Amino acid sequence: MRVNVSGIPEEGLQRELKLPITVNDSERPDVAHVHIKLVRIAKRVIIEGSVNISVSLKCSRCLNEFFYPMNAVFMEEYNPAEDIGTEDEQELTNEELDLGFYSNDEIDVAEVVKEQVLLSVPMKPLCKTECRGMCKRCGKDLNKGQCKCEAEKIDPRLAPLEKFRELIKDRKE
Ligand SMILES: [Zn+2]
Ligand SMILES: [Zn+2]
Repeated sequence: MRVNVSGIPEEGLQRELKLPITVNDSERPDVAHVHIKLVRIAKRVIIEGSVNISVSLKCSRCLNEFFYPMNAVFMEEYNPAEDIGTEDEQELTNEELDLGFYSNDEIDVAEVVKEQVLLSVPMKPLCKTECRGMCKRCGKDLNKGQCKCEAEKIDPRLAPLEKFRELIKDRKE
């Protein structure tokens, strides 16, 4: 959704939108429920919004896809890119605001929202905090059960020690 900056009315522009957003290499876009408000002061545009979305992410440990529900609230200031460097008084008046730029009198709201979503997505997503990941050897999803590799790896001479470890582990849990 593109907005013409000069067309933003004095009282601001409010919209509720459903935007398809693709995160990472996911095949299908997830739908973001967006509430957004644009206020223009001369050429400056303040964008306030909230995004609700369940993004499908790949777990960084087990590689399974899962839904990550998130809610982001943001406030950004957009200035015309054409003015960069020409206006010396373009100092930040409010340090709380993130700065963005638009060109050709146009702001792509979908892009603004997508940026916010990407900022809030974890770098190393986990399907659950206790995800056990995959076996590095056979690739089995260890959430679904132990593979045989671990058992083979143990030196028979150390087996008693291993049993002892298990015992301690069980007690901790
Ligand atoms: Zn996982
Ligand atoms: Zn294995």
